[in-house]
Amino acid sequence: MNIHEYQAKQLLKEYGAPVSDGRVVLKAEDAKTAAGELDGPLWVVKAQIHAGGRGKGHFIEPEAGEKGGVRLTKSVSEAAEEAQKMLGRTLVTHQTGPAGKQVNRVYIEDGSAIETELYLALLVDRGTSRVSFVASTEGGMDIEEVAASTPEKIVSFSVDPASGLSAFHGRRVAFALGLEGKQVKQCVQLISNLYRMFIDKDMEMLEINPLIVTDTGDLKCLDAKMGFDDNALYRHPDILEMRDETEEDPRELEASKYDLNYITLDGEIGCMVNGAGLAMATMDIIKLYGSEPANFLDVGGGATKEKVTEAFKIITSDPKVKGILVNIFGGIMRCDVIAEGVVEAVKEVGLKVPLVVRLEGTNVEKGKEIINNSGLDVIAADNLADAAEKIVKAVKGA
Ligand code: GDP
Ligand code: MN
Repeated sequence: MNIHEYQAKQLLKEYGAPVSDGRVVLKAEDAKTAAGELDGPLWVVKAQIHAGGRGKGHFIEPEAGEKGGVRLTKSVSEAAEEAQKMLGRTLVTHQTGPAGKQVNRVYIEDGSAIETELYLALLVDRGTSRVSFVASTEGGMDIEEVAASTPEKIVSFSVDPASGLSAFHGRRVAFALGLEGKQVKQCVQLISNLYRMFIDKDMEMLEINPLIVTDTGDLKCLDAKMGFDDNALYRHPDILEMRDETEEDPRELEASKYDLNYITLDGEIGCMVNGAGLAMATMDIIKLYGSEPANFLDVGGGATKEKVTEAFKIITSDPKVKGILVNIFGGIMRCDVIAEGVVEAVKEVGLKVPLVVRLEGTNVEKGKEIINNSGLDVIAADNLADAAEKIVKAVKGA
């Protein structure tokens, strides 16, 4: 789960990391009061969406003005004006896709005078199974771009969980960032605070881009992106409270309510499969036959008819889906339960695209019987390759 910048900064503050003072604004009429509570002489108005690249982004509606999602203003009234222009409008960045994201909240911040922009991140490194630090002098830029063009400017190391974090790690970051004097001490303190927060809150990712040196030579976190481990959220009610469901994929959100392992993808063939391995294999074979999966979906081993019905509804609600492939190997899952779920769902939502069903395993005959007697226009398949070939053909032929 991800949170907004302003929420991340609240957490940073709680952990003693330096951030600017700011106010979140949800309604245009509150913008002026919010800006008035900050000192100036610079007010920064920042669109709050779960995507990066806001500064270089653009709004779809002309009413939002020419500028991107991060606006520097010189007075309370100008700050309020810019906030009003952004609220409710659609911001497109390189991370939102062309459709963009609606800005429902803006953050008005006390502006900083920037000397240098740096990059700092913490993440769970799956290669080493440890928490890693990533630091670079190239702040304010896309780290992927830095990694591609000047990889030598990125310093990365992981922390041994047995010995934990020490001042040495902080000094290593300070050195990598070219910090001097009091900044080194500030950096050691910052690294210690961030690491503690990262572990405490079961974070997956924390990116501060940019971390800045201000005109007074002090470190400050100017931007913050945080991601948390979904499987650990049950022990962090304070983090769960920050969830903004409007930022999440509506189908993934719906699927999570039914405990379905569903992930939206870009392709055209909706997949309903049991078991993550079989789901991966199904996606692979769809590609092999020349198409692309519209989703990953593992309905799980002990799925009920209701769960299968919901899964089918989620797949058909996706306008990208031009065909559906149901691929079930009934081990723990029974084929007749899947068949009942599919028939039930089709009765409820209708079937506007071709459907290929491949059933194998426990109660397969019963499952096929249910499908055959349902009167549904289903294309039966005998094995995985046959199923993939048939659905791709049906979609391409349509
Ligand atoms: P992002 O574009 O979504 O990554 O949003 P950021 O919060 O990183 O802001 C983008 C850029 O706006 C930063 O890299 C800074 O150059 C600039 N910016 C943001 N806040 C301030 C500020 O308080 N003062 C100044 N001078 N520039 C700022
Ligand atoms: Mn940024």
